[in-house]
Amino acid sequence: MKYLDEFRDSELARSLLAEIREMTTRPWALMEVCGGQTHSIIRNGLDQLLPEKIELIHGPGCPVCVTPLALIDQALAIASRENVIFCSFGDMLRVPGSEKDLFRVKSEGGDVRVVYSPLDAVQLARQNPGREVVFFGIGFETTAPANAMAVKLAKQLGLKNFSMLVSHVLVPPAIAAIMTSPGNRVQAFLAAGHVCSVMGYWQYPPVAERYRVPIVITGFEPLDLLDGIRRTVAQLEAGKHFVENAYERAVTEVGNVAAQRVLAEVFEETDRAWRGIGVIPLSGWRLRPEYRAFDAAHRFDVSGIRTEESRDCHAGEVLQGRMKPNECPSFGTKCTPRKPLGATMVSSEGACAAYYNYGRFVALAATR
Ligand code: SF4
Repeated sequence: MKYLDEFRDSELARSLLAEIREMTTRPWALMEVCGGQTHSIIRNGLDQLLPEKIELIHGPGCPVCVTPLALIDQALAIASRENVIFCSFGDMLRVPGSEKDLFRVKSEGGDVRVVYSPLDAVQLARQNPGREVVFFGIGFETTAPANAMAVKLAKQLGLKNFSMLVSHVLVPPAIAAIMTSPGNRVQAFLAAGHVCSVMGYWQYPPVAERYRVPIVITGFEPLDLLDGIRRTVAQLEAGKHFVENAYERAVTEVGNVAAQRVLAEVFEETDRAWRGIGVIPLSGWRLRPEYRAFDAAHRFDVSGIRTEESRDCHAGEVLQGRMKPNECPSFGTKCTPRKPLGATMVSSEGACAAYYNYGRFVALAATR
């Protein structure tokens, strides 16, 4: 119980853990979808505090980690062009492409800039009418509304020098893909609270029903996660499978309707390749034809780029919950945050980075 006293309400944490322990009669495998949840779990040692029968499988909910290598290489090619100002959130800069990363492009003279909002990139385009400004628009449903707003604003302003390299991915199709993947062990999901704060959770009941799997919308603080786990295990033990909202302070069933309206106006569903996983049908968004002029992949000819994944990286297995990061032979040896082989070791939401940063160098069983 080494971490418990540091919790905001350690008594509540103890009582949630006692409840979970009392109700657990058999082994259960739960997947927390979001990389932010994975970091909170590992940072706070929640997996070490739970009964041994409960396994937490870390899901693919890290947008940086699932951005396909081909798209990273496209970004690198665009960022290397002379007249381009390439804008990105900071966590993409160290994600390795086939040969280099955005930091390397910057050190080679590329104009790569870290921004804190896609609207900063729109502003740069207004200030630099003679240059092409490209924003790297990746992420799940959470970051998509701001990206959609940026494209909409660029169109309203009549900007001809702003575009976005888009790779948005969606949670419900990923859950379906996990449930139908060969050898799947996941029996229940802790769904990502921030995604549902935007999208609501009206999309989830058909998924829970179809795959007979409990889905509990869960927050990110240790107590949120313990409550989500408690509710999930209660459903599993009772043989039930429904959608439950354990993050009521931020999530409603309908979600942020205004954001959903902008998303529907700017984006349309498309098949997306997930790094390490493969193509999942209708699992992403791309710009609608009316916004095609703002699509960087369309504006710059970056097709035909050949990619090569590191053979020593098992991020695909990590992202599908088939391997814990510290079971990868390269973990902490050939692959560290300073010299990463895969995006999961770089991203602030990557499972490999969580295991490395919080000292999980040995398997959980050895620490019990
Ligand atoms: S530890 Fe490194 S090499 Fe292994 S799966 Fe994670 S990112 Fe890839």
